[in-house]
Amino acid sequence: MAKLGAFLWRIKTFIGIALALLLAGFFLSAAKRPMEIAIEASYDEGSHSLAVVQTVLYRNPGQKPLGFVLFHLQPNAYQSAKTAPVEKGKEKASYPAGFSPGALTLERVLVNGEEAAYSIFGEQGSLLQIEMPEPLTDEAEIRLDYSVELPNARGRLGWSGDGVRLGGAFAVPARLMEDGKFDQSGLPAVGDPNLGEIADYALTLRLPTSFVAAGPGLEGPAEDGTWRFRLRDAPELLVAFSKGYCVAASKANGVRVRAFAPTEEGAELLAEQGARALEVYSELFGPYPREDYILAAADLSSLGLEAPGCSLIDLRLLRGQGALLEYVVAHETAHQWWGMAVISDQVRHAWQDEALAEYSALLYMEATQGESGFVKHYNALVRPAAEDQTLKGLPIDLPLSSFESDELYSRLVYRLGAAMWHDLRVEMGNAGFLRALSGYYRQHRLKWAEPIDLLGALGPRGANRAKEWLSGAPRLRGGN
Ligand SMILES: [Zn+2]
Repeated sequence: MAKLGAFLWRIKTFIGIALALLLAGFFLSAAKRPMEIAIEASYDEGSHSLAVVQTVLYRNPGQKPLGFVLFHLQPNAYQSAKTAPVEKGKEKASYPAGFSPGALTLERVLVNGEEAAYSIFGEQGSLLQIEMPEPLTDEAEIRLDYSVELPNARGRLGWSGDGVRLGGAFAVPARLMEDGKFDQSGLPAVGDPNLGEIADYALTLRLPTSFVAAGPGLEGPAEDGTWRFRLRDAPELLVAFSKGYCVAASKANGVRVRAFAPTEEGAELLAEQGARALEVYSELFGPYPREDYILAAADLSSLGLEAPGCSLIDLRLLRGQGALLEYVVAHETAHQWWGMAVISDQVRHAWQDEALAEYSALLYMEATQGESGFVKHYNALVRPAAEDQTLKGLPIDLPLSSFESDELYSRLVYRLGAAMWHDLRVEMGNAGFLRALSGYYRQHRLKWAEPIDLLGALGPRGANRAKEWLSGAPRLRGGN
Protein backbone atom coordinates (compact mmCIF):
# COMPACT_ATOMS: atom_id res chain seq x y z
CA MET A 1 0.00 0.00 0.00
CA ALA A 2 2.84 2.28 0.88
CA LYS A 3 4.40 1.74 -2.56
CA LEU A 4 1.11 2.27 -4.37
CA GLY A 5 0.57 5.40 -2.27
CA ALA A 6 3.98 6.74 -3.22
CA PHE A 7 3.35 5.94 -6.91
CA LEU A 8 -0.02 7.73 -6.88
CA TRP A 9 1.59 10.63 -5.06
CA ARG A 10 4.22 10.92 -7.78
CA ILE A 11 1.57 10.86 -10.52
CA LYS A 12 -0.41 13.51 -8.65
CA THR A 13 2.69 15.66 -8.28
CA PHE A 14 3.47 15.25 -11.98
CA ILE A 15 -0.08 16.25 -13.01
CA GLY A 16 0.08 19.14 -10.56
CA ILE A 17 3.32 20.46 -12.04
CA ALA A 18 2.06 20.07 -15.63
CA LEU A 19 -1.14 21.97 -14.75
CA ALA A 20 0.83 24.69 -12.98
CA LEU A 21 3.07 25.12 -16.05
CA LEU A 22 0.05 25.32 -18.35
CA LEU A 23 -1.62 27.88 -16.09
CA ALA A 24 1.58 29.91 -15.80
CA GLY A 25 1.82 29.99 -19.61
CA PHE A 26 -1.78 31.13 -19.84
CA PHE A 27 -1.35 33.92 -17.29
CA LEU A 28 1.92 35.08 -18.85
CA SER A 29 0.31 35.33 -22.27
CA ALA A 30 -2.61 37.19 -20.72
CA ALA A 31 -0.35 39.57 -18.73
CA LYS A 32 -2.10 42.89 -18.36
CA ARG A 33 -0.75 46.39 -18.50
CA PRO A 34 -0.47 48.08 -15.11
CA MET A 35 -3.08 50.61 -14.07
CA GLU A 36 -2.45 54.24 -14.96
CA ILE A 37 -2.72 56.82 -12.20
CA ALA A 38 -2.75 60.56 -13.00
CA ILE A 39 -2.67 62.91 -10.03
CA GLU A 40 -3.08 66.69 -9.94
CA ALA A 41 -2.20 68.03 -6.51
CA SER A 42 -1.82 71.56 -5.12
CA TYR A 43 -0.17 72.24 -1.80
CA ASP A 44 -1.47 74.96 0.50
CA GLU A 45 1.32 76.00 2.79
CA GLY A 46 -0.88 77.75 5.35
CA SER A 47 -3.03 74.70 6.11
CA HIS A 48 -0.38 72.09 5.24
CA SER A 49 -2.90 70.38 3.00
CA LEU A 50 -3.23 69.11 -0.54
CA ALA A 51 -6.16 69.48 -2.91
CA VAL A 52 -6.13 66.44 -5.19
CA VAL A 53 -7.85 65.27 -8.35
CA GLN A 54 -6.80 61.72 -9.14
CA THR A 55 -7.80 59.73 -12.20
CA VAL A 56 -7.15 56.01 -12.25
CA LEU A 57 -7.43 53.92 -15.37
CA TYR A 58 -8.27 50.89 -13.26
CA ARG A 59 -7.40 47.63 -14.95
CA ASN A 60 -8.77 44.51 -13.29
CA PRO A 61 -5.54 42.77 -12.23
CA GLY A 62 -7.29 39.42 -11.75
CA GLN A 63 -9.22 36.95 -13.85
CA LYS A 64 -12.67 37.33 -12.29
CA PRO A 65 -15.06 40.28 -12.73
CA LEU A 66 -14.97 42.66 -9.76
CA GLY A 67 -18.18 43.90 -8.10
CA PHE A 68 -16.15 46.51 -6.21
CA VAL A 69 -12.57 47.74 -6.03
CA LEU A 70 -10.53 48.71 -3.00
CA PHE A 71 -8.12 51.60 -2.35
CA HIS A 72 -5.88 52.42 0.61
CA LEU A 73 -6.36 55.92 2.04
CA GLN A 74 -3.22 55.88 4.17
CA PRO A 75 -3.46 59.45 5.56
CA ASN A 76 -6.52 58.30 7.54
CA ALA A 77 -4.29 56.05 9.65
CA TYR A 78 -2.88 59.28 11.13
CA GLN A 79 -6.27 60.56 12.34
CA SER A 80 -5.82 59.58 15.96
CA ALA A 81 -2.86 58.88 18.23
CA LYS A 82 -4.31 55.40 18.77
CA THR A 83 -4.24 54.33 15.13
CA ALA A 84 -1.25 56.32 13.83
CA PRO A 85 1.57 54.11 12.49
CA VAL A 86 3.95 55.12 15.25
CA GLU A 87 5.75 52.70 17.55
CA LYS A 88 4.74 52.89 21.23
CA GLY A 89 7.20 55.04 23.15
CA LYS A 90 8.37 56.82 19.96
CA GLU A 91 5.56 59.40 19.89
CA LYS A 92 7.85 62.22 20.98
CA ALA A 93 10.38 61.47 18.26
CA SER A 94 7.62 61.28 15.63
CA TYR A 95 5.66 64.40 16.56
CA PRO A 96 7.96 67.40 17.13
CA ALA A 97 5.13 69.49 18.62
CA GLY A 98 2.95 66.77 20.13
CA PHE A 99 0.34 64.64 18.37
CA SER A 100 -0.91 66.13 15.12
CA PRO A 101 -3.57 64.44 12.99
CA GLY A 102 -3.53 63.66 9.29
CA ALA A 103 -6.51 62.66 7.17
CA LEU A 104 -7.84 62.19 3.66
CA THR A 105 -11.27 63.70 3.07
CA LEU A 106 -13.03 62.32 0.03
CA GLU A 107 -15.28 64.73 -1.82
CA ARG A 108 -16.40 62.79 -4.85
CA VAL A 109 -16.00 59.41 -6.53
CA LEU A 110 -16.83 58.94 -10.21
CA VAL A 111 -16.69 55.68 -12.15
CA ASN A 112 -16.72 56.21 -15.92
CA GLY A 113 -18.02 59.73 -15.35
CA GLU A 114 -20.94 58.74 -13.07
CA GLU A 115 -21.20 59.23 -9.29
CA ALA A 116 -20.44 55.92 -7.61
CA ALA A 117 -21.42 54.48 -4.22
CA TYR A 118 -18.56 53.98 -1.80
CA SER A 119 -17.77 53.24 1.83
CA ILE A 120 -14.77 53.86 4.05
CA PHE A 121 -13.90 51.27 6.69
CA GLY A 122 -11.10 49.44 8.49
CA GLU A 123 -9.50 49.89 11.92
CA GLN A 124 -7.63 52.96 10.68
CA GLY A 125 -10.48 54.16 8.45
CA SER A 126 -8.02 53.71 5.61
CA LEU A 127 -9.90 51.38 3.27
CA LEU A 128 -12.11 52.73 0.50
CA GLN A 129 -14.50 50.37 -1.23
CA ILE A 130 -15.97 51.65 -4.50
CA GLU A 131 -18.94 49.80 -5.96
CA MET A 132 -18.75 49.15 -9.68
CA PRO A 133 -21.95 50.04 -11.57
CA GLU A 134 -21.54 46.70 -13.34
CA PRO A 135 -19.03 43.89 -12.72
CA LEU A 136 -15.62 45.08 -13.91
CA THR A 137 -14.03 42.63 -16.29
CA ASP A 138 -11.51 44.82 -18.06
CA GLU A 139 -11.03 48.47 -17.14
CA ALA A 140 -12.83 51.54 -15.78
CA GLU A 141 -11.93 55.17 -15.24
CA ILE A 142 -12.17 56.08 -11.57
CA ARG A 143 -11.91 59.70 -10.53
CA LEU A 144 -11.34 60.66 -6.92
CA ASP A 145 -11.52 64.26 -5.66
CA TYR A 146 -10.14 64.72 -2.18
CA SER A 147 -8.08 66.78 0.19
CA VAL A 148 -5.22 65.58 2.38
CA GLU A 149 -4.40 67.15 5.71
CA LEU A 150 -0.77 66.45 6.53
CA PRO A 151 0.28 65.76 10.12
CA ASN A 152 3.06 67.81 11.71
CA ALA A 153 5.16 64.67 11.93
CA ARG A 154 8.55 63.27 11.03
CA GLY A 155 8.71 60.34 8.66
CA ARG A 156 7.13 59.13 5.46
CA LEU A 157 4.04 61.37 5.55
CA GLY A 158 3.97 64.82 7.11
CA TRP A 159 5.52 68.25 7.41
CA SER A 160 8.17 69.48 9.84
CA GLY A 161 10.52 72.43 9.69
CA ASP A 162 10.53 73.59 6.06
CA GLY A 163 10.24 70.08 4.59
CA VAL A 164 7.26 67.96 3.50
CA ARG A 165 7.10 64.25 2.65
CA LEU A 166 4.22 62.79 0.64
CA GLY A 167 4.74 59.05 1.25
CA GLY A 168 1.33 57.40 1.07
CA ALA A 169 -0.41 60.76 0.64
CA PHE A 170 -2.42 59.65 -2.39
CA ALA A 171 -5.04 56.92 -2.76
CA VAL A 172 -3.45 53.69 -3.99
CA PRO A 173 -5.33 50.72 -5.46
CA ALA A 174 -5.12 47.76 -3.08
CA ARG A 175 -3.30 44.67 -4.22
CA LEU A 176 -5.50 41.85 -5.47
CA MET A 177 -4.13 38.79 -3.68
CA GLU A 178 -3.77 35.31 -5.11
CA ASP A 179 -6.97 34.19 -3.34
CA GLY A 180 -8.91 36.81 -5.34
CA LYS A 181 -9.40 39.10 -2.31
CA PHE A 182 -8.00 42.58 -1.87
CA ASP A 183 -5.21 43.23 0.61
CA GLN A 184 -6.86 44.99 3.55
CA SER A 185 -3.65 45.67 5.48
CA GLY A 186 -3.44 48.86 7.47
CA LEU A 187 -0.25 50.79 8.17
CA PRO A 188 1.66 48.99 10.95
CA ALA A 189 3.46 50.76 13.81
CA VAL A 190 6.66 48.85 13.00
CA GLY A 191 8.02 48.67 9.43
CA ASP A 192 7.36 50.79 6.43
CA PRO A 193 5.52 48.77 3.79
CA ASN A 194 4.22 49.65 0.35
CA LEU A 195 0.57 48.71 0.09
CA GLY A 196 -0.31 49.48 -3.52
CA GLU A 197 -0.85 47.45 -6.66
CA ILE A 198 1.72 48.00 -9.41
CA ALA A 199 0.82 51.07 -11.50
CA ASP A 200 2.20 53.74 -13.84
CA TYR A 201 2.13 57.17 -12.18
CA ALA A 202 2.00 60.72 -13.54
CA LEU A 203 1.93 63.43 -10.89
CA THR A 204 1.56 67.17 -11.39
CA LEU A 205 2.36 68.95 -8.14
CA ARG A 206 1.76 72.67 -7.65
CA LEU A 207 3.83 74.23 -4.88
CA PRO A 208 4.59 77.75 -3.69
CA THR A 209 7.65 78.81 -5.69
CA SER A 210 9.85 78.84 -2.59
CA PHE A 211 9.89 75.00 -2.54
CA VAL A 212 12.20 72.60 -4.37
CA ALA A 213 10.68 69.17 -5.06
CA ALA A 214 12.46 65.81 -5.16
CA GLY A 215 11.04 62.63 -6.64
CA PRO A 216 11.55 60.02 -9.33
CA GLY A 217 10.96 60.80 -13.01
CA LEU A 218 11.05 64.55 -12.47
CA GLU A 219 10.53 66.33 -15.79
CA GLY A 220 12.57 69.49 -15.43
CA PRO A 221 12.36 72.08 -12.62
CA ALA A 222 9.43 74.44 -12.86
CA GLU A 223 9.69 78.17 -12.56
CA ASP A 224 6.00 78.64 -11.81
CA GLY A 225 6.00 76.07 -9.04
CA THR A 226 4.58 73.23 -11.17
CA TRP A 227 6.51 69.96 -10.85
CA ARG A 228 5.83 66.89 -12.98
CA PHE A 229 6.88 63.34 -12.10
CA ARG A 230 6.50 60.13 -14.08
CA LEU A 231 7.11 56.66 -12.74
CA ARG A 232 6.28 53.31 -14.30
CA ASP A 233 5.62 49.88 -12.78
CA ALA A 234 5.66 51.00 -9.18
CA PRO A 235 3.63 50.18 -6.05
CA GLU A 236 3.73 53.85 -5.02
CA LEU A 237 5.10 57.27 -5.90
CA LEU A 238 6.87 59.19 -3.15
CA VAL A 239 7.96 62.80 -3.48
CA ALA A 240 9.37 65.21 -0.91
CA PHE A 241 9.84 68.96 -1.03
CA SER A 242 11.60 71.55 1.04
CA LYS A 243 12.51 75.23 0.98
CA GLY A 244 16.07 74.45 1.90
CA TYR A 245 17.11 71.92 -0.76
CA CYS A 246 20.42 72.21 -2.62
CA VAL A 247 20.70 69.85 -5.57
CA ALA A 248 23.64 67.80 -6.84
CA ALA A 249 23.77 65.43 -9.80
CA SER A 250 25.85 62.45 -10.75
CA LYS A 251 25.69 59.56 -13.21
CA ALA A 252 26.07 55.82 -12.71
CA ASN A 253 25.95 53.36 -15.62
CA GLY A 254 23.99 55.89 -17.70
CA VAL A 255 21.44 56.50 -14.91
CA ARG A 256 20.91 60.07 -13.73
CA VAL A 257 21.38 60.30 -9.98
CA ARG A 258 20.20 63.45 -8.19
CA ALA A 259 20.48 64.29 -4.54
CA PHE A 260 18.67 66.91 -2.44
CA ALA A 261 20.02 68.10 0.89
CA PRO A 262 20.19 71.25 3.03
CA THR A 263 23.80 71.97 2.03
CA GLU A 264 25.77 71.76 -1.26
CA GLU A 265 28.30 69.43 0.36
CA GLY A 266 25.56 67.20 1.76
CA ALA A 267 23.87 66.94 -1.65
CA GLU A 268 27.19 66.16 -3.35
CA LEU A 269 28.01 63.47 -0.80
CA LEU A 270 24.59 61.87 -1.17
CA ALA A 271 24.79 61.94 -4.98
CA GLU A 272 28.27 60.43 -4.93
CA GLN A 273 27.38 57.65 -2.47
CA GLY A 274 24.09 56.90 -4.24
CA ALA A 275 25.87 56.65 -7.61
CA ARG A 276 28.52 54.34 -6.18
CA ALA A 277 25.92 52.02 -4.64
CA LEU A 278 24.00 52.00 -7.93
CA GLU A 279 27.17 50.97 -9.78
CA VAL A 280 28.03 48.21 -7.31
CA TYR A 281 24.57 46.64 -7.38
CA SER A 282 24.18 47.00 -11.16
CA GLU A 283 27.39 44.98 -11.42
CA LEU A 284 26.33 42.36 -8.85
CA PHE A 285 22.64 41.86 -9.60
CA GLY A 286 21.84 43.41 -13.02
CA PRO A 287 21.12 46.90 -14.38
CA TYR A 288 19.09 49.40 -12.35
CA PRO A 289 15.58 49.29 -13.86
CA ARG A 290 14.60 52.97 -13.91
CA GLU A 291 15.73 56.12 -15.70
CA ASP A 292 16.75 58.10 -12.66
CA TYR A 293 17.46 57.70 -8.98
CA ILE A 294 16.69 60.32 -6.36
CA LEU A 295 18.14 60.63 -2.87
CA ALA A 296 16.67 63.24 -0.56
CA ALA A 297 17.67 64.20 2.95
CA ALA A 298 14.51 64.45 5.03
CA ASP A 299 13.32 64.78 8.61
CA LEU A 300 12.66 61.13 9.45
CA SER A 301 12.06 59.17 12.61
CA SER A 302 14.13 56.32 11.13
CA LEU A 303 17.56 56.32 9.44
CA GLY A 304 16.15 56.02 5.95
CA LEU A 305 13.30 54.71 3.86
CA GLU A 306 12.88 53.41 0.37
CA ALA A 307 10.39 54.12 -2.39
CA PRO A 308 10.48 53.25 -6.09
CA GLY A 309 13.26 55.26 -7.76
CA CYS A 310 13.81 57.26 -4.58
CA SER A 311 15.37 56.98 -1.12
CA LEU A 312 14.86 59.32 1.80
CA ILE A 313 17.80 59.58 4.20
CA ASP A 314 17.50 61.11 7.66
CA LEU A 315 18.85 64.67 7.72
CA ARG A 316 20.84 64.03 10.90
CA LEU A 317 23.08 61.50 9.14
CA LEU A 318 24.56 64.31 7.04
CA ARG A 319 25.89 65.98 10.15
CA GLY A 320 29.18 64.27 10.73
CA GLN A 321 28.77 60.49 10.87
CA GLY A 322 29.95 59.70 7.35
CA ALA A 323 30.27 55.94 7.84
CA LEU A 324 26.71 55.43 9.05
CA LEU A 325 25.45 57.61 6.19
CA GLU A 326 27.22 55.41 3.64
CA TYR A 327 25.78 52.27 5.23
CA VAL A 328 22.24 53.65 5.19
CA VAL A 329 22.60 54.83 1.56
CA ALA A 330 23.89 51.35 0.67
CA HIS A 331 20.93 49.65 2.42
CA GLU A 332 18.27 51.95 0.93
CA THR A 333 19.79 51.82 -2.56
CA ALA A 334 19.78 48.00 -2.41
CA HIS A 335 15.98 48.26 -2.04
CA GLN A 336 15.89 49.60 -5.59
CA TRP A 337 16.55 45.95 -6.50
CA TRP A 338 14.91 44.21 -3.51
CA GLY A 339 11.43 45.52 -2.81
CA MET A 340 11.17 48.31 -5.39
CA ALA A 341 12.13 46.40 -8.58
CA VAL A 342 11.39 42.86 -7.44
CA ILE A 343 8.21 43.90 -5.64
CA SER A 344 7.39 41.76 -2.62
CA ASP A 345 4.85 41.65 0.20
CA GLN A 346 6.42 43.89 2.82
CA VAL A 347 3.57 43.38 5.27
CA ARG A 348 3.56 39.59 5.46
CA HIS A 349 7.12 38.68 4.42
CA ALA A 350 9.34 41.63 5.33
CA TRP A 351 12.43 39.37 5.30
CA GLN A 352 12.11 38.95 1.53
CA ASP A 353 13.39 42.45 0.81
CA GLU A 354 14.81 43.65 4.17
CA ALA A 355 17.24 40.82 4.91
CA LEU A 356 18.49 40.96 1.34
CA ALA A 357 18.87 44.76 1.38
CA GLU A 358 20.83 44.48 4.63
CA TYR A 359 23.14 41.79 3.30
CA SER A 360 23.54 43.70 0.02
CA ALA A 361 24.91 46.62 2.08
CA LEU A 362 27.62 44.24 3.32
CA LEU A 363 28.34 43.21 -0.28
CA TYR A 364 28.64 46.94 -1.08
CA MET A 365 31.21 47.32 1.72
CA GLU A 366 33.12 44.35 0.33
CA ALA A 367 33.07 45.79 -3.20
CA THR A 368 34.21 49.26 -2.13
CA GLN A 369 36.49 48.52 0.85
CA GLY A 370 37.61 44.95 0.22
CA GLU A 371 37.22 41.97 2.54
CA SER A 372 38.19 43.96 5.61
CA GLY A 373 35.22 46.29 5.00
CA PHE A 374 32.93 43.28 4.86
CA VAL A 375 34.36 41.71 8.02
CA LYS A 376 34.19 44.98 9.94
CA HIS A 377 30.51 45.43 9.18
CA TYR A 378 29.70 41.74 9.63
CA ASN A 379 31.27 41.77 13.09
CA ALA A 380 29.61 45.01 14.12
CA LEU A 381 26.11 44.35 12.82
CA VAL A 382 25.45 40.74 11.91
CA ARG A 383 27.56 38.63 14.27
CA PRO A 384 25.89 39.98 17.45
CA ALA A 385 22.49 38.89 16.07
CA ALA A 386 23.84 35.54 14.90
CA GLU A 387 25.21 34.86 18.39
CA ASP A 388 22.23 36.29 20.26
CA GLN A 389 20.70 33.43 22.25
CA THR A 390 17.42 35.33 22.66
CA LEU A 391 16.86 35.15 18.89
CA LYS A 392 17.57 31.45 18.68
CA GLY A 393 14.62 29.50 17.35
CA LEU A 394 12.65 32.62 16.36
CA PRO A 395 11.40 32.52 12.77
CA ILE A 396 12.76 35.27 10.50
CA ASP A 397 9.68 35.02 8.30
CA LEU A 398 7.14 36.86 10.45
CA PRO A 399 4.49 39.42 9.47
CA LEU A 400 5.07 43.01 10.59
CA SER A 401 2.06 42.73 12.90
CA SER A 402 3.99 40.36 15.16
CA PHE A 403 6.50 43.05 16.15
CA GLU A 404 5.88 45.59 18.87
CA SER A 405 9.30 47.17 18.67
CA ASP A 406 11.51 48.27 15.84
CA GLU A 407 14.46 47.06 17.87
CA LEU A 408 13.49 43.36 17.77
CA TYR A 409 12.30 43.73 14.18
CA SER A 410 15.69 45.00 12.99
CA ARG A 411 17.70 42.50 15.03
CA LEU A 412 15.67 39.55 13.80
CA VAL A 413 14.66 40.42 10.24
CA TYR A 414 17.57 42.66 9.13
CA ARG A 415 20.52 41.35 11.11
CA LEU A 416 19.72 37.68 11.65
CA GLY A 417 18.28 37.78 8.12
CA ALA A 418 21.67 39.00 6.87
CA ALA A 419 23.34 36.16 8.83
CA MET A 420 21.08 33.78 6.92
CA TRP A 421 22.17 35.26 3.59
CA HIS A 422 25.80 34.96 4.57
CA ASP A 423 25.29 31.32 5.51
CA LEU A 424 23.63 30.73 2.13
CA ARG A 425 26.52 32.40 0.33
CA VAL A 426 28.97 30.09 2.10
CA GLU A 427 26.75 27.11 1.29
CA MET A 428 26.25 27.99 -2.40
CA GLY A 429 29.63 29.55 -3.13
CA ASN A 430 29.95 33.20 -4.17
CA ALA A 431 29.42 32.64 -7.90
CA GLY A 432 26.35 30.41 -7.42
CA PHE A 433 24.95 32.82 -4.86
CA LEU A 434 25.24 35.85 -7.16
CA ARG A 435 23.91 33.84 -10.10
CA ALA A 436 20.83 32.94 -8.05
CA LEU A 437 20.19 36.53 -6.99
CA SER A 438 20.70 38.02 -10.45
CA GLY A 439 18.43 35.30 -11.89
CA TYR A 440 15.74 36.16 -9.31
CA TYR A 441 16.09 39.84 -10.23
CA ARG A 442 15.96 39.24 -13.99
CA GLN A 443 12.89 37.05 -13.75
CA HIS A 444 10.82 39.18 -11.38
CA ARG A 445 11.97 42.68 -12.25
CA LEU A 446 9.08 45.18 -11.93
CA LYS A 447 6.68 42.41 -10.95
CA TRP A 448 5.37 40.84 -7.77
CA ALA A 449 7.50 38.02 -6.39
CA GLU A 450 6.50 35.64 -3.61
CA PRO A 451 8.89 34.08 -1.07
CA ILE A 452 8.66 30.85 -3.06
CA ASP A 453 10.09 32.65 -6.10
CA LEU A 454 13.14 33.69 -4.09
CA LEU A 455 13.55 30.23 -2.55
CA GLY A 456 13.15 28.69 -6.01
CA ALA A 457 16.02 30.82 -7.33
CA LEU A 458 18.33 29.35 -4.66
CA GLY A 459 18.04 25.77 -5.92
CA PRO A 460 16.95 22.85 -3.71
CA ARG A 461 19.93 22.90 -1.32
CA GLY A 462 19.93 26.66 -0.83
CA ALA A 463 16.14 26.68 -0.45
CA ASN A 464 16.18 23.96 2.22
CA ARG A 465 18.84 25.76 4.18
CA ALA A 466 16.95 29.09 3.88
CA LYS A 467 13.73 27.41 5.08
CA GLU A 468 15.51 26.26 8.25
CA TRP A 469 16.47 29.84 9.03
CA LEU A 470 13.11 31.26 8.09
CA SER A 471 11.19 28.83 10.25
CA GLY A 472 13.37 29.40 13.29
CA ALA A 473 16.08 26.79 13.45
CA PRO A 474 19.28 28.58 12.55
CA ARG A 475 22.32 26.36 12.43
CA LEU A 476 25.23 28.66 12.84
CA ARG A 477 28.57 28.59 11.20
CA GLY A 478 31.41 31.00 11.82
CA GLY A 479 31.31 34.54 10.46
CA ASN A 480 33.19 35.25 7.29
ZN1 LIG B 1 15.19 48.42 4.44
